[in-house]
Amino acid sequence: MKAMLISTYELAPQVRHFVFGVPEVERLHFKAGQFVSFNEMLNGKKITRPYSIASLPDGNRFELCLNLVHEGIFSPFLFQMKPGDSVEMSAPLGFFVVRNPTKEALFIATGTGIAPFRAMAPDYLSHPQAAQLNLLFGVRHENSIYYRNEFEELARRHSNFNFWPTLSRAEPSWSGRTGHVQVHLLEAIGDRRDLDVYICGLKAMVDDVRAILKALGFDRKQIIFEKYD
Ligand SMILES: Cc1cc2nc3c(=O)[nH]c(=O)nc-3n(C[C@H](O)[C@H](O)[C@H](O)COP(=O)(O)OP(=O)(O)OC[C@H]3O[C@@H](n4cnc5c(N)ncnc54)[C@H](O)[C@@H]3O)c2cc1C
Repeated sequence: MKAMLISTYELAPQVRHFVFGVPEVERLHFKAGQFVSFNEMLNGKKITRPYSIASLPDGNRFELCLNLVHEGIFSPFLFQMKPGDSVEMSAPLGFFVVRNPTKEALFIATGTGIAPFRAMAPDYLSHPQAAQLNLLFGVRHENSIYYRNEFEELARRHSNFNFWPTLSRAEPSWSGRTGHVQVHLLEAIGDRRDLDVYICGLKAMVDDVRAILKALGFDRKQIIFEKYD
C-alpha cells in the first residue's frame, strides 16, 4: 500500500517527526510499538527499511520519528519528501509491544529509539491496573529530548509514570541526569528483579544494557528489545 506524507516538523537538528496517511484503514491495524516497512526503488535497487510507529492507532494515520543518516540510503530519501508525496509500505509487524501493563516496567531508549515508546507509554498507562512505569531516555543535548513536553505532561497526569532524560553532552545550564543510560540503570532498578525492561535504540547501547541486566540476574524473558542496526 502507499503511505502519503501529510506533514512533518523538526524535532531537533537532523531529526524530524512525520505524519503519514494510508487510504486503506483496514490494512493499518497495529499495536503500540510495532513498525512499518517502507520500500522504494533507489539507485536501481529495491531498498526496504523498517520504522517504529511513534503514535497510537488512530484511523488511517500513523507517525514516525526519523533520524537523518547522511551517508545512508533511505533516510535521505524520506527527508526530501514533501507533503503529498507517497512511499510504498507494507503492513505493520513486530513483537516489541507491551507484554503486561500490570507488571512494573522500565523503558530505555536512546535517540530515535524513543519512537515506539511514544506509543507504548500511553498504551501501558491506559490500562486500569497499570503498574509503575519509568522511562529512561538518553540523548546528547537538551534540545534533543524529543517529545519532552508530551512525556512531562504524561508524568503529570500519571503518578505511576516517571520520565528521566539523561544527557551525554550536557550544557552547564542542565541540572538533570547526565551520562549514558547505562549509568542510571542501577538507580532505575534498585533491588528489584521482578520488572520487565524494554530497550530500543542502536545495537551498541542495546547489547550493553542487556549484558548489564543479565549480570544483575535478569531472566532473558524480562528483557524485551528492538535494535535499529
Ligand atoms: C525494527 C526497526 C525499527 C526502526 N525504527 C526506526 C525509527 O523509528 N527511526 C529511525 O530513524 N530509524 C529506525 N530504524 C532504522 C532504519 O530502518 C534505517 O536503518 C535508518 O533509517 C538508516 O537507513 P539508511 O538507508 O538511511 O542508512 P543505511 O545505509 O541503511 O545505514 C547507515 C548506518 O546508519 C546507522 N543507523 C541506522 N538507524 C539509525 C538511526 N535511527 N540513527 C542513527 N544511525 C542509524 C546504521 O548503524 C548504519 O551503519 C529502525 C530499524 C529497525 C530494524
